[in-house]
Formats: sequence, C-alpha cells, structure tokens
Amino acid sequence: MYHVVTQELPRDSSRSSRKDESLVSASADSSRSSDSESREKDDKKERVLHTRVPAVLESELKRFADNLRVPVSNLVRTILEDALEVADVATENVEGRLKKAASQLEKERQRLRKKVLFDPLKDVFAYQAVTLAQSAACAKCREEMSAGTHAHMGLTDPQPGKNKPARIFVCNACLPKA
Ligand SMILES: [Zn+2]
Repeated sequence: MYHVVTQELPRDSSRSSRKDESLVSASADSSRSSDSESREKDDKKERVLHTRVPAVLESELKRFADNLRVPVSNLVRTILEDALEVADVATENVEGRLKKAASQLEKERQRLRKKVLFDPLKDVFAYQAVTLAQSAACAKCREEMSAGTHAHMGLTDPQPGKNKPARIFVCNACLPKA
C-alpha cells in the first residue's frame, strides 16, 4: 500500500529559504517490488517517507503525471520502486534516492514512462477464481488481501530465463470485465 500526499507548506518567514518547497509524503512497502515471492514472505513493513522537494520539482512531477494520465502518487511510487530495485533498501537512504531519482526525471523520462504505464496483467492469458491461503497483494491496485479472500489468479506462460511463472493475484475490483 502506498499513499502519497503533496501539499503546500504553510508560509513561514523564518524559513524563507525553503519557501518554494513542498512536502511529499509517501509510505512504501520496503520490500522489493519486483519479486512477488519475497514480498509475500516479508512482513508487510511499511515505511513512511517525508521529504521536501523543490516546488519546481513537484510541478515537474505533476506535469509528467498529467502527461502520462496517471496520478502523481503512481508516478512517485514508480520512482520509488525503481530506486528500490537498484539498491538494497535496507541500507539505502530512501529519501535521498527519491530526490536523486526525481532530479533525474528529465533523463529518466522515457524509462519511467514505460515503467509507470506497465500493465502488470499484460501477460495473463486467463483468470482462475481462487481462495487465498496466504495473504497477497493485488497485482493491479496493490490492495492487501488476507488469507481466505476470494481472489483471482492470473495465469501466465513461463518467461524465458525464469523457471516458474510469477504469481499474479487480482482482487475482484481489478478483474477485467467483459
Ligand atoms: Zn485490485
């Protein structure tokens, strides 16, 4: 689960040097996003991240998100996940990573565009109704589903280089409808 809030800081004359900064808060699953198995095994540790980004950067993020027609929170989440994939989250300064990634937005634009628009269900050829025996996150909305939840498993073909297909679960709301 991720929540991202951007808000204007109240005007504070004593911090005039920061007058153009906005607060970006995000809570991010601290486990790696790319490995659904280890994510399932990990405790659902969430870390809350508060970081100040220059207003110009925030507007850049908003513009980019508008351009991609995705919420800013999705974009920030993608940047965070991207950063977490690159380095070991346990020892990394996530806030620093977000700032760095965001500051490289211009360069990274094309790569992030692909990533943020990536459809986690694109390789699924069928859905099978299942009852979860272990908690799992919806691949699409990332809503946490507890054991016993009636969910749907996305069936995929094995990917080259991987000895078994990734497990994909989706919640009822995210199941594609005819
Ligand atoms: Zn869902």
